[in-house]
Amino acid sequence: MKSTPSPGDAALTKEVEAVIDDRGLLAGPRPSVDREKLQHHLREALRLLHVDLDSENVMDTPRRWAESLVTMTSGYDYTDVKKLTTLFRQACSVTDDSCQNLVVIGGTYKTLCAHHILPFFGHFIIGYIPERMIIGASKIPRIVEVHMRRLQSQEHLAHDVADTIEKILEPRGIAVWMGGVHMCMVMRGVEQESSFMETNVLRGNFLSDERTRQEFMSIVNRRGERQ
Ligand SMILES: [Zn+2]
Repeated sequence: MKSTPSPGDAALTKEVEAVIDDRGLLAGPRPSVDREKLQHHLREALRLLHVDLDSENVMDTPRRWAESLVTMTSGYDYTDVKKLTTLFRQACSVTDDSCQNLVVIGGTYKTLCAHHILPFFGHFIIGYIPERMIIGASKIPRIVEVHMRRLQSQEHLAHDVADTIEKILEPRGIAVWMGGVHMCMVMRGVEQESSFMETNVLRGNFLSDERTRQEFMSIVNRRGERQ
């Protein structure tokens, strides 16, 4: 049976379309989330799964589920990531070709997969060669955080982070490595507990200069050895 969208749904679709530009990126913050409606639908989903909604354990679950979904997708509320950043002049002079910094920052990420709304999480290592500016060290994890609090695939997450850093810094090159465990592979599908996925995005100098690429990859590999 084909369901016809209600006038309310059409208005929401229009509102959402307005904030997504032609490249599929967010052009503005998402409209405010109707928490009551969300709770109602999540309660219905549990009902369809024949979960006992009167049990003390589950009674308040639709509310908690709705709140956690709002939090875990709160990255859609940030669109001007530039505002979250602090930039500094780099140590090398722009005109000095013999001076090349490789800035590397690592950390962890956790997000929800866009296909199954199940978590995937792991480590990231980001390297860039500054052109003029470097970014405050704590800002890179902040940029990752904005993108990880959206529905993602590991490839999209790595590319989104690379796009944002490129837009802010216009560096000579950027590399984003991510390695993670995906609950949609562990808990369903192939049920592979030890499955691990790596994604590597290389741009600019990291593509054109073998030595820069090797330097970055040796940092990634050393991280693997430390584990
Ligand atoms: Zn998945």
